[in-house]
Amino acid sequence: MTLGSSPNHAAEPNAVLNLYSARHYQTDEALYANFTKSTGIKINRIEADDNALLERLNSEGAKSPADVILLVDAARLWRAQVNGMFKPIQSKVLDQRIPANLRAKADADGTTWFGFSTRARIMVYNKDRIKPDDVNTYEKLADPINKGKVCTRSGSHPYMLSLVGALIERDGTAATEKWAKGMVANMARAPKGGDTDQIRAVASGECAVALTNSYYLARLMRSTKPEDIAALAKLGHIWPNQNAGGVHINISGGGVAKNAPNPQAAVKFLEYLASDAAQIYLADGNNEWPVVPGVKLDNPALKALGPYQVEKVSVAAIGRNQVAAQRILDQAGYR
Ligand code: FE
Repeated sequence: MTLGSSPNHAAEPNAVLNLYSARHYQTDEALYANFTKSTGIKINRIEADDNALLERLNSEGAKSPADVILLVDAARLWRAQVNGMFKPIQSKVLDQRIPANLRAKADADGTTWFGFSTRARIMVYNKDRIKPDDVNTYEKLADPINKGKVCTRSGSHPYMLSLVGALIERDGTAATEKWAKGMVANMARAPKGGDTDQIRAVASGECAVALTNSYYLARLMRSTKPEDIAALAKLGHIWPNQNAGGVHINISGGGVAKNAPNPQAAVKFLEYLASDAAQIYLADGNNEWPVVPGVKLDNPALKALGPYQVEKVSVAAIGRNQVAAQRILDQAGYR
């Protein structure tokens, strides 16, 4: 900054924000440009997948230039919190806009991370192989009636660990241990691949039912590729636990970095992410839902998927249950 510049300008001319983001979608450009336009704060972006970002933050340590960290899944946000990567903040705007169960209140100092969009962990099934009533809850996936039918990704992946973290909260530890053993006994194949691979294996008939995050199905529903349209014709989908605690939801979210050189800009940016316009960008870009109540999306696939009842479990509790979830899955032999 030049000496003698007026202290009274609303936005500092050289203000910057260093954003470490595990999210990257086509709509991001407009999202960030609008922030710079309204605040004068330039955004330097470091984009990488969650693991690479966390490694980078680890190696940079206290010298990290990161101001804001955006990650995907409560499991990873919690891990980053435990590793001391977030600085707790106070923001009336964020507290008012974001539902309490979608942010992690650390202590009296404030909140460490906030959800900015939600995704649901749903099921897809092969219409030739499954009666929907046999798989309409997470608990039924582990029932002996579904022996040899179930596919999921690895039990060490955050999406599975978070689901199990939520089940511990909902059903208790003993019931979740039993569930994990039932799941392992019901598998059509050893866990492998991502959620899209599970969907394709259900369409091909190799698996009869599988767990997937909702946006992977929404993406398939919006695809115009003939092979995707053919796959979709084989599939039904389930919103699990609609009268039994609701579907498990997770978030993408973020917080202010522990040693943020520009902490005020960082809070401003998080508040911007909770604005109506940014909520629509963030959610629609990955076929997810806004966290702020009342923000409306015009997304045909999401309209076709909803409406649905969601769990009331807090993302903070899902985070706290990560260690227990991994232990339960390991003990059950869930690879
Ligand atoms: Fe994903």
